[in-house]
Amino acid sequence: MSNPILIDPLKYAREGRAQSGKMAVAALDERVLAELAGRDGEVEYTLTGYVDRLRRPCLRLELAARVLVVCGRCLEAMFVDVKADSVVTLFTSEERLLAAVEDDEELDAIIAEPELDARALIEDEIIMGLPLSPLHDDCGSEELERARAKKPNPFAVLASLKTSRSE
Ligand SMILES: [Zn+2]
Repeated sequence: MSNPILIDPLKYAREGRAQSGKMAVAALDERVLAELAGRDGEVEYTLTGYVDRLRRPCLRLELAARVLVVCGRCLEAMFVDVKADSVVTLFTSEERLLAAVEDDEELDAIIAEPELDARALIEDEIIMGLPLSPLHDDCGSEELERARAKKPNPFAVLASLKTSRSE
């Protein structure tokens, strides 16, 4: 079970609060773990509250996570780094929220509840930040190196054939 990080979002933003933390991937909610290949890894985050130039309360979440996913080529687990830097703008009325989103389609807006679980924001960002088709740069490179060391290099064989022919 994950412990919530409860904040009063409006107060947090208006008072310009900030907090940083670290948590184990294993402590995240099942909905995140279900997307991952294992429970190893760690998440670091910084949550900063501020008021933007339109006087709207906002929360900025910066996040760096190291999580296990499955390589699409060799199907082995591999670590990937997920980074996110997102802003959610808080509204107290549905009307204003809709008007703001109409003005700016990129705007990530929510209605400010008296209590917000920042851990859910963190988990959402991790899920959205996961690569769609993760691949090792070089699957099983260690095994390949070993296999190459045993077999003669095909180009060396070709070269020796050429030289023997020309002799
Ligand atoms: Zn692979």
